[in-house]
Amino acid sequence: MKKSYLELNTNEIDSLLTVLGESSFRAEQIHNWIYDHGVVSWGEMENLPQSLRDKLENMIPLHPLRITKISGSDSKSTRKYLFETLDGQNIESVLMNDRKRTTVCISSQVGCAVDCKFCATASMGFIKNLSVGEIVDQVIHLQTQSKSRITNVVFMGMGEPFLNYKSVIEAAKILSQEMGFGARRITISTAGIVPKIRQLADEDHKYKLAISLNGTDEKSRNTIMPLTKTHSLKSLIESAHYYYKKIRRFITFEYVLLKDVNDSPEDGERLIDLLRSLPCKVNVIPYNEIGGKYNRPKEDKIHAFLHSLKHAPFTVTVRWSKGTDIDAGCGQLAVKDLA
Ligand code: SAH
Repeated sequence: MKKSYLELNTNEIDSLLTVLGESSFRAEQIHNWIYDHGVVSWGEMENLPQSLRDKLENMIPLHPLRITKISGSDSKSTRKYLFETLDGQNIESVLMNDRKRTTVCISSQVGCAVDCKFCATASMGFIKNLSVGEIVDQVIHLQTQSKSRITNVVFMGMGEPFLNYKSVIEAAKILSQEMGFGARRITISTAGIVPKIRQLADEDHKYKLAISLNGTDEKSRNTIMPLTKTHSLKSLIESAHYYYKKIRRFITFEYVLLKDVNDSPEDGERLIDLLRSLPCKVNVIPYNEIGGKYNRPKEDKIHAFLHSLKHAPFTVTVRWSKGTDIDAGCGQLAVKDLA
């Protein structure tokens, strides 16, 4: 498999430079061009001799990803990027701007194996795990595309981050150590892979954790998120308590609101009971329709559900997704057959 420079480890970089008869300080120069200046081609690295730039150009691609399409929303505050990997796969990332923040939503896998019934990515099936470089490169490219400095990175694009745990954690480390994103500006969202939530706590990582809850009892959650059979709701909530005890950071529970599935005031009551003793936040996401069998509740139903959470001991926020006009809303990412 062809690798890009960004995916090489330090030993591989050393041997490449040795082969080229270059000293190792070039590695640092190249590193600065990539991470501090976000250059997209060898040609732009002005402090490298032209002959070296030419040789590198012929030897190895700098980036593992290439932007192949940009979709802009009407409001222009949300843009979706289609990338191609060196092995010809496609992934999507989203760049979102509001007055206070510039957030990028990145993918961790091509497709997804989790099979949540309401999610567009699930329809692709699982294709592959992204490499560390492919994960980080989404942020590097989007920074060059963004007018303002990116402030937050969320692993809420395609894929289940905790089924590509090692690369996701390594990528998050690079984002914080090389690109200056504090751990609190990086959010990892999981459908609920229980052992990995415990591992995150055991390894003492300070990234923000989000859990896609979406159901308030085993049976109904299992119908929309069949992974509940393997990772029960009970074990999921226990792992959340375990995480909080160790890390002392609030978890955000995402709750996709689906018409006539989990949007009744009784669901609201059950949600309060489930999370009562856990310091956390709840983010309600009115469903973004993808043309399948699930629907978004009507506005009054959404408000009635929110009303049922009025006395909840946790903070409740609502994510009125942007970019749904370009299928860039939560859960709408799915690269259709491009041929
Ligand atoms: N696999 C991870 C990361 C994906 S994040 C996870 O499940 O957390 C995507 C978030 O969007 C999840 O909270 C998911 O439940 C939610 N989601 C999926 N499809 C959606 C849709 N069509 N509308 C709104 N939210 C959706």
